[in-house]
Amino acid sequence: MNLPITSPNTVLANALNQTVDLLRARIALKRPKRVDFIVGTQINGTPHLGTNLTQCAAFVLAREIRNAFSVDTTVTFNALDNAPYHIELDPESFHSYQITYRHALGLEAVTELTESLYRAFFEGLSERTAVDYRLQLYSEQQATPAFRQTFLKTLPLREQLRWCVSPANGIMHVRFPCPYCFKAEKRGERMRILSTERECAIFEAFCFDHGLYEVVVTADSDAFLDLSTLYRNVVKEAQIADDQNVLGVMVKGGDWAFACQLVDWALGVLGYKASELPVRWFTPQILTETGAKLSKSLISRGEMEVPSQAFSWVLDTHDFEIEGDFEDYLDSLVGLIMGMLDDPKHFFRSYSYLEIDRLMKAQSPEARRENRARLIRIYRKYFDLIASGKKTIEIRVGYSSMKKIKPGQLLRFVSQGESCLTRVIDIREYSSFDELFEKEDFTKINPDKSKAEQLAEVRNIFSREKEALGVLAIEITRQDEGVK
Ligand SMILES: [Zn+2]
Repeated sequence: MNLPITSPNTVLANALNQTVDLLRARIALKRPKRVDFIVGTQINGTPHLGTNLTQCAAFVLAREIRNAFSVDTTVTFNALDNAPYHIELDPESFHSYQITYRHALGLEAVTELTESLYRAFFEGLSERTAVDYRLQLYSEQQATPAFRQTFLKTLPLREQLRWCVSPANGIMHVRFPCPYCFKAEKRGERMRILSTERECAIFEAFCFDHGLYEVVVTADSDAFLDLSTLYRNVVKEAQIADDQNVLGVMVKGGDWAFACQLVDWALGVLGYKASELPVRWFTPQILTETGAKLSKSLISRGEMEVPSQAFSWVLDTHDFEIEGDFEDYLDSLVGLIMGMLDDPKHFFRSYSYLEIDRLMKAQSPEARRENRARLIRIYRKYFDLIASGKKTIEIRVGYSSMKKIKPGQLLRFVSQGESCLTRVIDIREYSSFDELFEKEDFTKINPDKSKAEQLAEVRNIFSREKEALGVLAIEITRQDEGVK
């Protein structure tokens, strides 16, 4: 997707040919079975454009990395239901106390809220990129044994860690909701650690209504463990770094770059080498005229001004209207990210919201709808056969992303800068290439080669291990450009 963007050069952009090159070193070092793109968002109201842009970037990056490195990719969405729902001050000490969304609304309502804010958006992105995702609430994440064990591992090192995660005063913000009213001291001023062992730690916390209470944290105790943002990221990233099979990529808004040193120092204290840490992939920030990050909360409190022609859609993406359609919004957003990915100079920078508005609307309806077609890269000789209409069956092994292809869907085959749009008529699954070639008309797969030659050719491309995933015959027909 070519968008009319002008960007200056940077050290990073200069070092890369394509934006995806950024991950090449880490994939070579770790040889992961899967690359997981992780995005976290506080569940505290309708998303604004910055949030959606980062989430969309995770899906599009997952697709591009899968295509570039032939590695399985997924997206994990952490819905932070520990966001503060209500804050009040202790009338005597003036310490802040907070109640999380999870505790104010309950699990069922928080799940419902998350579903209503994000499910359709993620489903739409998953469909466009054929990337699988999972949605995890923070309340579920903190309850997993892996998260708690990693947290317990940090406690013996707390003397060194505390200045990394709380550089202002060295008090680690560990919060446990009061068992009676769910209020928790926000900065943990009166939280004390009574004992720590490898598998178990006992804490004492203070509620200004209900006094002192004890909390036991083990791999499976039911205490709700809430941490400040920096501390939570340290625990989460350490847990991700421990996974030998999966390379974690934290997809974060560019403003996070300023905070990551503190997280790095903490992970260094825990003994991780820089080359073992999860990757941080920063996405473009959306800025106002003053160069400040667009902040929905500052605008709603009247502390940040935006001009009146003001793109209400930037703040509440439900208002985005080209043709008044949510699908168009998703198409434009994917198109925007594709345009940014087109050149590393366009991706590793920030944009004013005026520029974002212009780029979203600069996409023709045809170009936007192309984003609904799934991109499939293919060798030139097969591409030519598809483009000429001679090849109407494409063969693939049964990766989960391929199994998502459905009849009626548009597939865009791409090779060496040329593309050809097709529509899926049918998709049939077989247990082996032998079975596939027995049942399918091999002249539709390749009219120029014998059955035996073709069988030898696919065996050359796909290992037995890949064949064991199942094999797919995807029946396609050529489409004119610009069809919906
Ligand atoms: Zn209480």
